[in-house]
Amino acid sequence: MPVKRVALLGATGSIGRQAIEIISSRAELELCAIMSGSQPIAALGLEHGVSHVQVGGSAVSLLDACEPDVVLNAIVGFAGVDATLWALENGVTLALANKESLVAAGELAVAAHRRGGGLLLPVDSEHSALFQCLEGRAPDSIESLVLTASGGPFRGRTTEELASVTIADALAHPTWSMGRKISVDSATLANKGLELIEAHWLFGVPYASIEVVVHPTSIVHSLVRFRDGALLAHLGTPDMRVPISFALGYPDRPAVATARLDLAQGLDLRFEAVDERTFPLLPLARAAGEQGGTAPCAYNAANEVAVEAFLDGRIGFLEIADTVAAALDQVDGSPARDLDDLVAADAEARSIAQRRLVPA
Ligand code: NAD
Ligand code: MG
Repeated sequence: MPVKRVALLGATGSIGRQAIEIISSRAELELCAIMSGSQPIAALGLEHGVSHVQVGGSAVSLLDACEPDVVLNAIVGFAGVDATLWALENGVTLALANKESLVAAGELAVAAHRRGGGLLLPVDSEHSALFQCLEGRAPDSIESLVLTASGGPFRGRTTEELASVTIADALAHPTWSMGRKISVDSATLANKGLELIEAHWLFGVPYASIEVVVHPTSIVHSLVRFRDGALLAHLGTPDMRVPISFALGYPDRPAVATARLDLAQGLDLRFEAVDERTFPLLPLARAAGEQGGTAPCAYNAANEVAVEAFLDGRIGFLEIADTVAAALDQVDGSPARDLDDLVAADAEARSIAQRRLVPA
């Protein structure tokens, strides 16, 4: 089997470390580059076997230098946008964990993907599930995509109860162990909002045909409804190594030593509706997605600013959604013609959000 050279961006993070575990265990995968934002990479103990190691700086120059077969983009936030566009434009297989880049860059990313002609493989568990349920199906046989949401640590709470939740409460995710930013996004349901927009761009399905349903045990990773009424679902224990392995191993499906579902024990497959009044970041994402242009970019940018402020203890939990709503009200959302336009739209939404958080 030919060796695949992998560039791992965001190597020190939650996804990055699980990816290293997978890559280290596979003879056919070789790390050619590792990058982090600011955390030292030495702690990972593997820099000697890797030709390109970088902390901070430009992902693009690193990727140009190492010429990978696969880019695993596990950077958090808009900071991952250059790497996503680089891989798509150059036709290099992109294993995408960094959903924020696809949300923000949507149209530019799809155009770059069309020009580059490479593979775009989702690492997000829901989208990996959808990708697998959709593979080989005729587009006109599909009625809708159904994204599952665990509901996060605050499922069932009222808005009044959410006013006083702490950072530690928000980080205590019931089913997944993840980085801090995505953990807060899961608590506000912004993560599901980002995933809704991500699904739209990945699969070319209109927003009206993408449903979101709460499924507290995270066993069903997502489903596809077909026009004959049949639903195909992807089930498994919640373990990100499975979608990481699927994306890195594609089109093979190498073995993963993850806990197996014990069907005979009985599965808790409850589903319930999302409480969109208590968790407005999901309907706000849908509205931003439907608006199009740079509205999703602004949604993401304001959310990043607000989540950081929440994690710094500068604002309360409910102010995260208020900040995003206010920013979306103030931007015009006109489309980005190129990356410069996109970076400007991102910066504008960030500064609106910042001004709101730090009144003059
Ligand atoms: P994390 O915070 O644990 O790690 C983020 C990584 O990105 C770190 O290595 C950090 O050094 C790096 N980074 C930050 N800024 C950077 C920059 N400017 N340039 C280069 N690298 C930078 O985050 P995570 O939980 O691993 O999530 C990573 C991405 O994967 C996010 O987009 C998240 O939404 C997505 N994702 C994560 C999970 C999960 O289980 N953790 C699941 C699905 C999707
Ligand atoms: Mg997900």
